[in-house]
Amino acid sequence: MIDAIRPLIAGNWKMNGLKASTAEFGAMLNGATEVAGKADLLVCPPATLIAAFAEKACGKKVAVGAQDCHPKASGAHTGDIAAEMLVDSGATAIIVGHSERRADHGEGDALIRQKAEAAWRAGVTAIVCIGETQGQRDAGQTLDILRGQLTGSLPDGSTSANLVVAYEPVWAIGTGLTPTSRDVEQIHGFIREFLTSRFKADGAGMRILYGGSVKPSNAAELMAVKNVNGALVGGASLKAADFLAIAQGC
Ligand code: PGA
Repeated sequence: MIDAIRPLIAGNWKMNGLKASTAEFGAMLNGATEVAGKADLLVCPPATLIAAFAEKACGKKVAVGAQDCHPKASGAHTGDIAAEMLVDSGATAIIVGHSERRADHGEGDALIRQKAEAAWRAGVTAIVCIGETQGQRDAGQTLDILRGQLTGSLPDGSTSANLVVAYEPVWAIGTGLTPTSRDVEQIHGFIREFLTSRFKADGAGMRILYGGSVKPSNAAELMAVKNVNGALVGGASLKAADFLAIAQGC
């Protein structure tokens, strides 16, 4: 890691995990002290497990987060969960705008911005995801798409303390494919320029995570790229050994 920004390795468990998975999380907690000097660790399990994980993580080196929230604090929204409820359960950060939410639930930039603001209202950091699809990449639209998503989904008032950006090319998620280090450097450099121009010093200090098929074998190379300040890890975050090995790569 060549940047001064302390890296964050965040695990996104997606729709995986039952109460029995608390044991795997316990293994992460046990191994976390060894990697805690290198990076902050965050695990975002399904909402049903946040309270159990948070209880186990109390006083340990892994924080617990959530994968999504509703923009409102309460009300008649059957099946939805407010940021305040997630925080009440022990979440210290909330992922918003993941490409699976954008695709499966038709979420657009304006809603994602409101969700990021909801995370702040509840007192925690928002991790805002952006990324281009394969088709957009093939059409040479990557930077335009990212500029649009950054402009639309990041609220005014974003700071290095309350906001993390996760660049996740949709075509790299769960596919085993990753962009080259050169591509990652170019795109993270573009994101950094955008953040610095819009949020000044805060933009310069904001974490930009890379996500999409990060695993122990490619983590060190990806984490060494300029302006990569950590990773958002899906599949490989389900196993303690893999997740900790990725953090070792910082
Ligand atoms: P993956 O997912 O690591 O399984 O590719 C990353 C993500 O969707 O956050």
